[in-house]
Amino acid sequence: MLALRAERAFDGEHSLAGPVTVLTENGTIKAVERGHPDIPGAEVVDLGTATVLPGLIDTHVHLCADGRNGALERVPGLSAEQLDAVIADSLERHLRAGVTTVRDLGDHQWAVIEQRGRHVQRVLGSGPPITSVGGHCWSMGGEASGEDELRLAVRTRAERGVDVVKVMASGGFATPGTQVGDCQFTEQELRVVVEEAHAHGLPVTAHAHSLAAAQRAVAAGVDGIEHLTCLTDRGIQVPADLMEALAEADIAVCHTLGITQEPPPFMKEAWDRIGMSYTAKVSMAGLMYDHGVKTVAGTDGGIAESKPHGAIAYSVADLVRSGVPNAGALASATSQAAKACGVAKGMLKPGWDADIIAVQGDPMRDITALHNVLTVVVGGQIVTTTLPLDRRV
Ligand SMILES: [Zn+2]
Repeated sequence: MLALRAERAFDGEHSLAGPVTVLTENGTIKAVERGHPDIPGAEVVDLGTATVLPGLIDTHVHLCADGRNGALERVPGLSAEQLDAVIADSLERHLRAGVTTVRDLGDHQWAVIEQRGRHVQRVLGSGPPITSVGGHCWSMGGEASGEDELRLAVRTRAERGVDVVKVMASGGFATPGTQVGDCQFTEQELRVVVEEAHAHGLPVTAHAHSLAAAQRAVAAGVDGIEHLTCLTDRGIQVPADLMEALAEADIAVCHTLGITQEPPPFMKEAWDRIGMSYTAKVSMAGLMYDHGVKTVAGTDGGIAESKPHGAIAYSVADLVRSGVPNAGALASATSQAAKACGVAKGMLKPGWDADIIAVQGDPMRDITALHNVLTVVVGGQIVTTTLPLDRRV
């Protein structure tokens, strides 16, 4: 039994004024108590003036990518040992940032799926994203054409035990020869993917940069949308009826915000060509949140130096910058992300998994507190801490 004493807590939805004690037993949260009660038999850890909150969830990462420019292009050339080393290093960076669950949405072949159980954190994954022939990220191994191949692609993923199906509804920035504004599948083809995935109990999330691809994905009944850049021939357009449809269907949108430095030149040039900027992307996230669109945090971690692994604090801070209240931004990386991933995490609530972090300061007042992760607990075990041993009382 572990008792974590802190000055205050964020429980995944709300702030709890302190002091607070979170009690864990057998890997789950047993109680969240006000004050610092005596708990016989518990290992008590005094976190001082820290805030405790659920372990963070990054819903969009690429564990096979090493976080340097050109990362995705390098992946097909890596040996199995090199790939394993990159995945382990990526997860270590997430852990230090307080990320106790990741959802990998761009596996190379099945590398991540095959070694999901070997790590400290919970790793969820899609396997190789389903894409058109020669389409965005085709080198990951997920090409499919026509309804029969799409159904087969989903069944193969279900047999492999994926946690989610990812489909590339539009082109992307990082694959030469694809157009970011193009649709890769028809609405009917996307519907086939959704039907087959749902029949296997799997959610579907669609990568969509173009507005047309997003509209098709929503009509096809997907459960989530990645990026949602809403590109059109006339620049970015966010129609009110799209936001209404997203909110009504409770579709989880991951804007893949969070950059630690200026994006690489090729990315900036591609953005300039289509009339997009990072600032516009950030404001769009706030606009959609205001319209009731369910927002989940995810970084696209690993794809470039501006998007390294472990940058979840930047992603959440950019949501706040977009106008999302601190509690909503924190929920996007905890309770809302957990719901989108279908895991009993992201809440400090009895019965939920005991994945807990402590940060210095109060992220409800100053979101940059998320940069100062002091202690990470996974399944009721302290896995990293900067605390001196005498804090364990
Ligand atoms: Zn991605």
